[in-house]
Amino acid sequence: MVDAKKEKKAIISNKNPMPAQDPVERAKNFNEVALGYSEETVVAEANRCLQCKNAPCRQGCPVEIDIPAFIEMATKRDFAGAIKKIKEKNALPAVCGRVCPQESQCEKYCTLGKKHDPVGIGRIERYCADWEMANGAQPQEVAPPTGKKVAIVGSGPAGLTCAAALAKSGHKVTIFEALHVAGGVLMYGIPEFRLPKAVVQTEIEGLKKLGVEIQVNAVVGKFATVDELMEEEGFLRRLFG
Ligand SMILES: Cc1cc2nc3c(=O)[nH]c(=O)nc-3n(C[C@H](O)[C@H](O)[C@H](O)COP(=O)(O)OP(=O)(O)OC[C@H]3O[C@@H](n4cnc5c(N)ncnc54)[C@H](O)[C@@H]3O)c2cc1C
Ligand code: SF4
Repeated sequence: MVDAKKEKKAIISNKNPMPAQDPVERAKNFNEVALGYSEETVVAEANRCLQCKNAPCRQGCPVEIDIPAFIEMATKRDFAGAIKKIKEKNALPAVCGRVCPQESQCEKYCTLGKKHDPVGIGRIERYCADWEMANGAQPQEVAPPTGKKVAIVGSGPAGLTCAAALAKSGHKVTIFEALHVAGGVLMYGIPEFRLPKAVVQTEIEGLKKLGVEIQVNAVVGKFATVDELMEEEGFLRRLFG
């Protein structure tokens, strides 16, 4: 009886551990170290969420994902609904679920974290994003075309995030990237064992499905100036006002 009580407390108190490559194996390769939750583990972790009405976790999320809503969907194994909810606010969930500093953002404000481990919000987000990669892209709402052309300089996470938001608002978006591959620091800074390049490229393919065009090997300032893009190529000088 005592053991059962202890076990229940442990389940509530502690984050479900993230499965990881065996250290002996991982010393011999550059593959991702964290392997991701199983379905059973993600449901168990999602069930730790208290579903706080004021959702302090949301205030710690820079893009204000409706965290309790997607976690509740995960408790019901509705991963299609969960990823759609996440993508209302975040175009790069597989990236953010892996490399966002959750401990100083959403998880820092989790009510459960006052006495116990916070809910593993990033781990649940990662599971939902990986579920979508394995099961096919879920449809997203895109506004009717506005006829406006927007140029974005650089395809790092900032440019990609802007591109997704603008494309979903109905604008025709072109990203100009100086390097031969899109992704910015996600591709050449964060190491493979922490953020696999294939994961970044799959997220970028998702943006292309929203209609975003990406031109690589295109240094703005060399092939065209910002003024030329606006005056000769018809990109907007100002989106609002
Ligand atoms: C080694 C390293 C590890 C990191 N690890 C993490 C982490 O684990 N978690 C985390 O949250 N953050 C991490 N960061 C920080 C994170 O990568 C940056 O905050 C983020 O990449 C900034 O995004 P950005 O889009 O503003 O810029 P960038 O990622 O730098 O992208 C800018 C893009 O613009 C392109 N560009 C620049 N000038 C032009 C031009 N004139 N024309 C066309 N294209 C142009 C560049 O080629 C580049 O692709 C790390 C950074 C580094 C360097
Ligand atoms: S603060 Fe923590 S427990 Fe409360 S809704 Fe957010 S994730 Fe769930």
